Amino acid sequence: MSNVLVVANIADNEVKKAVLSTAAFAKTVSGYTGGSYDILAIGDDLSGVKDTLASLGAGKVMLAQGAELGTALAERLSPIIAQVATQGGYKVVVSAATSIAKDVFPRFAARIGAGMASEVVAVSNEGGKLTYVRPMYAGNVNGAVQIDSAVEVVTIRPTEFDAIEPGAAASAVEEVALPAAEAVCGKVEFLGFEKSVSNRPDLAEAAVVVSGGRGLKSKENFNIIEALADALSAAVGASRAAVDSGFIHNDFQVGQTGKIVAPDLYIAVGISGALQHVAGMKSAKTVVAINKDEEAPIFQIADYGMVGDLFKIIPELTEAVKKIKG
Ligand SMILES: Cc1cc2nc3c(=O)[nH]c(=O)nc-3n(C[C@H](O)[C@H](O)[C@H](O)COP(=O)(O)OP(=O)(O)OC[C@H]3O[C@@H](n4cnc5c(N)ncnc54)[C@H](O)[C@@H]3O)c2cc1C
Repeated sequence: MSNVLVVANIADNEVKKAVLSTAAFAKTVSGYTGGSYDILAIGDDLSGVKDTLASLGAGKVMLAQGAELGTALAERLSPIIAQVATQGGYKVVVSAATSIAKDVFPRFAARIGAGMASEVVAVSNEGGKLTYVRPMYAGNVNGAVQIDSAVEVVTIRPTEFDAIEPGAAASAVEEVALPAAEAVCGKVEFLGFEKSVSNRPDLAEAAVVVSGGRGLKSKENFNIIEALADALSAAVGASRAAVDSGFIHNDFQVGQTGKIVAPDLYIAVGISGALQHVAGMKSAKTVVAINKDEEAPIFQIADYGMVGDLFKIIPELTEAVKKIKG
């Protein structure tokens, strides 16, 4: 019997790596609880992704689709998740800690009266009780928490769990009968969605990230970060100070109140390494820091550091990368 439910919000006909990592988490948990896992996918049109979803080892894949589900309003999505979770009698309901899940999941958990652990980075089975590890105090400590309610609601940091390897499209696929939109849905109005369009890799999933901080000094200067990122086929990131100074849109902020990234390579340029920034990138495999202040805290977590003027170093580095790549 399936006792873990993976909730996957699907946009742009794409199954993101975060969903594969969530399925890997569900596989581990269902191993502990002696069951299997199902997937609930929500989106406006799921016809293009159902085979991929059916290849992730789930018992079954449930599709909740409809034009109004493309807008991901928590007021509309949470009753759908609650209906599926309750009818299926799931013990654990999990999603990747995406911006949408951060909005929808607490509402869903409150709706079914369940306890919730958010941004989980590890899970274990302690004497038959699931124990979740999650960062607290801006990542300064990791707390081990157990949930006492009958249903356990969890969001995970996908960067902390290896993606599941898709196999054959073997899961049964069925449609979910959508509950009627509730009166509460009429009290919120969807005004629009401003999508950031970029040819660069998705910041949350990129293998290489080049991030710039206040040290760049202006929006125009931030172009040198973008040029290095393009030479490396990398995503662009930023500190909150860079965002607050208007150098770049806040979609690109890395840190406690921004995106959590775990690339193979993270290059921090003109970033001091404040706790709240480090909270978002400390899982990177290799960290390179470029800063003119040799005392900058970023050097404490960097694998490689260059002390010097970024306005000299970055253009030279970009040219060198371009030369190597031919
Ligand atoms: C509740 C809360 C949440 C927060 N969340 C986040 C978050 O999610 N992400 C985040 O980033 N911050 C966050 N912050 C802000 C954080 O505390 C720092 O203020 C911020 O990260 C600093 O950004 P910075 O390193 O770019 O700027 P600074 O700390 O000003 O550092 C700029 C660096 O650039 C270097 N520099 C300057 N000129 C040059 C040059 N020519 N060449 C080389 N180096 C140079 C300087 O030596 C300095 O180290 C949060 C703060 C709070 C209170």
